[in-house]
Amino acid sequence: MNSVTVRVPAKVNLQLAVGPLRDDGYHDLVNIFHAVSIFDEVTATAEIGVSVRVEGESADQVPEDDDNLAIQAALALARHAGRSYGVSLLIRKSIPVAGGMAGGSADAAAALVACNELWGLGLPTEDLLEIAADLGSDVPFALLGGTAVGTGRGERLSPLEVGGTFHWVFALADGGLSTAKVYAECDRMREAIGEQVAWPQAADPLLAALRGGDAKALGAELANDLQPAAVMLRRSLARTLDTGREYGALGALVSGSGPTCAFLAESEAHAGELALSLKAAGVARDVITAYGPVPGPTVV
Ligand code: ATP
Repeated sequence: MNSVTVRVPAKVNLQLAVGPLRDDGYHDLVNIFHAVSIFDEVTATAEIGVSVRVEGESADQVPEDDDNLAIQAALALARHAGRSYGVSLLIRKSIPVAGGMAGGSADAAAALVACNELWGLGLPTEDLLEIAADLGSDVPFALLGGTAVGTGRGERLSPLEVGGTFHWVFALADGGLSTAKVYAECDRMREAIGEQVAWPQAADPLLAALRGGDAKALGAELANDLQPAAVMLRRSLARTLDTGREYGALGALVSGSGPTCAFLAESEAHAGELALSLKAAGVARDVITAYGPVPGPTVV
């Protein structure tokens, strides 16, 4: 086999509960991940040496050297296999870059699956999940897809039962937000008001809404502890969120560390209408519709 292409989805967090700052600089999280139908494609081609090229949505903001998470994934897999393998990776991006939708993590997961196949390693998902956890807290979920709750730094995953398909609208912003800066702002804001930070817990009503496929109930339960910090760093997000609510979104929240905003719709038709209204209101660089949950990386 000379070439393998893998399609991999973006994620939105349905609940992101951020616990107290730990001594190691991380936070204990409860992170309910939901994979949605916005896809990057990663093609791995047999080659001497390891390289990457990036095309598509904001490709100029993605490194084409060893800082690229897909390259790091390929190198980590080769190390795990105890051999030096070569690959040239081509990433076609549709997932917004630095948009809080885990695009880099998705590309890393896709590279693990593609190289595992290309190099004929045949490693089981458990091994890939181990490598993924070392690459970043969002990479293990990117390997799984569907809907799952992550604890620890977000990397200890349990898949969740979901009783239906949910329809989403995503408002993309100009430029990204640094995840590290958003966490730092969250810590600063909490300290400034002397907030006693509770231990993070998955919200039972949200889990019930997912099981029942109940979009209205889910909309009311969407929650992101990073949202105040993201809005503080990018004030225009408050207006974007309000506009979506005014136009009838069942729920509105900043996706992960932002600045992408996510809106839950009643149906596919409602998502289309909501997207048109948000576009017309001029509160986003671009507006796209998607549905979830969708499966993780798929060889195409
Ligand atoms: P998360 O939601 O996991 O915090 P994000 O969606 O906000 O992540 P990414 O799109 O993953 O952000 O990008 C974060 C940074 O990682 C970017 O600024 C980019 O330079 C870098 N990066 C490295 N590799 C990639 C990649 N393959 N795709 C996108 N960004 C990458």
